[in-house]
This record gives sequence, structure tokens and C-alpha cells, in this order.
Amino acid sequence: MTKRDYYEILGVSRNASPEEIKKAYRKMAIKYHPDKNPNNKESEDKFKEAAEAYEVLGDADKRARYDRFGHDGLKNSGSGFQEMNMEDIFSQFGDIFGSAFGGFGGFGGSTSRGRKVNRGSNLRVKVKLTLEEIATGVEKKLKVNKYINCSSCNGTGAKGGASYQTCTTCHGTGQVTRITNTFLGQMQTSSTCPTCGGEGQIITDKCPVCYGNGIVKGEEIISINIPAGVSEGIQLSVSGKGNAAARGGIPGDLIIQIEEEKHPSLQRDGDNLIYEHYLSIPEAALGTTIEVPTLEGRAKVKIEPGTQSGKILRLKNKGIPSLNGYGRGDLLVSIIVWIPRDLSKGEKEILESLRGSENFKPNPNIKDRGFFERMREYFHS
Ligand SMILES: [Zn+2]
Ligand SMILES: [Zn+2]
Repeated sequence: MTKRDYYEILGVSRNASPEEIKKAYRKMAIKYHPDKNPNNKESEDKFKEAAEAYEVLGDADKRARYDRFGHDGLKNSGSGFQEMNMEDIFSQFGDIFGSAFGGFGGFGGSTSRGRKVNRGSNLRVKVKLTLEEIATGVEKKLKVNKYINCSSCNGTGAKGGASYQTCTTCHGTGQVTRITNTFLGQMQTSSTCPTCGGEGQIITDKCPVCYGNGIVKGEEIISINIPAGVSEGIQLSVSGKGNAAARGGIPGDLIIQIEEEKHPSLQRDGDNLIYEHYLSIPEAALGTTIEVPTLEGRAKVKIEPGTQSGKILRLKNKGIPSLNGYGRGDLLVSIIVWIPRDLSKGEKEILESLRGSENFKPNPNIKDRGFFERMREYFHS
């Protein structure tokens, strides 16, 4: 693979000043930084390419060699040119960008400055709710099996909660600094203290109950308020109620995954509820009153004479409250006229006598077009 021209990579002319080169590189590094472009191989390649170009053009000596001999001039330069890894690239930043780069949210992700704080893992629990509970919102008490702080050592991991001392390697900072030689000259880099693992403290006598972890398996009753209007698959997060962290760190979160229990007669469609009601032919033709199950008991609904199959009756505000707090869905009663499958001889005769009747000939008008009403309902809700 032939390497691209370093000036071209940074987008500067061959007689660019060191300041211009630095500025151009800074722009590229910000644009293609992996924190800004997660899992983007192309950006990563560009990021590395720019760093390599800067390594050469940002150094007067290397730049002069590159100007005279091109890429070959660098290969034969004794020290040899090795590909930069991400850590090398990040380690330039403090020097090159100074405080201007500080507000970027930290680089590298893995090495944070200062003492390491343990984090408990998140816990996931499923909570099954009835539609009635969803309609009103509900408080649930959950018994959760999880890591809790060890009561014997108060979560410190040290016997009696007191047998620990400040790490002598890092003097409690959790970080060790070392001086390394880079192409930019000597640089000070810090890394996690190997003695204390970054925690800044050494336990001299481990708690015999938790073996120095500060956490043990246990259970906790956690009370959670589930708002009205949640639906299957929604996740609610309760901060700090997940697994306790080792040795007094920050506990994880409890993630509650909502599951919906099937209602015996109502189906949910967003914030609306759907109830299918079958009418007999006489009921549909002569009219009747039906009982519709709602989430707050049964409602009586009048059926007008001549009600068609496919008709949808709307019970306003009898659905599920919207999760965002605005309004409430409806309960839609979908009417289906039941056509008997088995008929007695007498019933057949009665229907046969009606076959020729003018009133029994289909004569739908727009109001009767239940099917289209249903489709409209479906596509506009
Ligand atoms: Zn303990
Ligand atoms: Zn240490």
C-alpha cells in the first residue's frame, strides 16, 4: 500500500508554518476522534493517518527528511518508523492541545484521572402488570436478589471496617506517573497504580465475611412507583438500586422492564383499548343494550337497531392514560354480527321466507361501511 502524502493528509501546503500544521492537525483530530465516531473504522483510520502525518510534519528534523526523500527518508532513519497505536496518539494531546482540549470529555475512555471508584453493575428485573395497574399507575414492592454492602465491615472490605491503610506506592492517589520518551520529547504519563489497583488504599486485614470485597449476596425490598400508561418493553431505571459496588463505590442502577399481562377480553392498541363484541342477527336488527368490560368495571352500551357488522363504537377516555401525562385513549367496541353456522329446520324456513324480502337486500350507505371505518381508525391512530 502506498502511503498518502502527509501534507495532503493534513490539507496544508508544502510551505505551511509549524503553527499552521499544528492547527490543521488539531482540526483533524477533533473531527475524527473515536469518542465522537464510535465504531467507525474509517474515522479511526483517518485519525491514525493524521497522527502519523503530524508526527513527521510537526518535527522540524523529520519534516526536512520527508521533504527531501519522501516516505523512504523516514524508513532509513535508524530508529525506524513504527505504526502509532491509539495510546501514543492520545498521549500527545495534553501537550499539543493543552487546556483547549480539556473540555472534550476525556480521551481514551479507559484511563481516568485520579482514584478509581468501583461501580456496581446494573440489575435488570421484569415486572408484569395488568392493564388495570397500567391504567392507574401502581406502586410495586420488589424483592430483589443482589449484591448488598457487607454489614460486617460496612462495605469497606476491611476487617472491622478499619483495617486498611493508604497505599504507599501511589500515596492514596490511585495513579502512578512515569516519564517516557516520545517523539515530542519527555512526557509524563500517569497510569493506574498496580499495587492498589487504583483504589488508593490497601486492606491490611480482609473482612472474613466478604473476603475483602465489601459486598455480599443478599436481597432488598425495593419499592417502585410505576407511572400510568407504561407499555410492554418500556424500561424504567431506578438510580442506585442495582448491585452494590465493591468497597464503598457507586452502586449500579435497577432497570425495570415492563411486561404486560394479557387481559381476558380487552386488547391494547397504543393508548386505545379494543373490545370485540358479537351480536346475534336479531340483536343487530332490532337493537339491544350490551355490557362492555372496561378497566373500571362494566359499562352499558346501547346498540341501535340496524347496527352493521364492523361498526366501531367509541367509549371516550376509557382507554389508557398517555404516559406523557396528556389525555387518555378510548375504548373501541368493535361490533361483529354473528351468522349462525347450524340452523334447525324451522329456522331455515323462517330465513328462507325472508330471502326475497326487500328489507333484507343489502343497501349500505356510507355510515354502514364499518370495514373502511375500521381501516381509517387503524391508519390514523
Ligand atoms: Zn465485609
Ligand atoms: Zn496505590
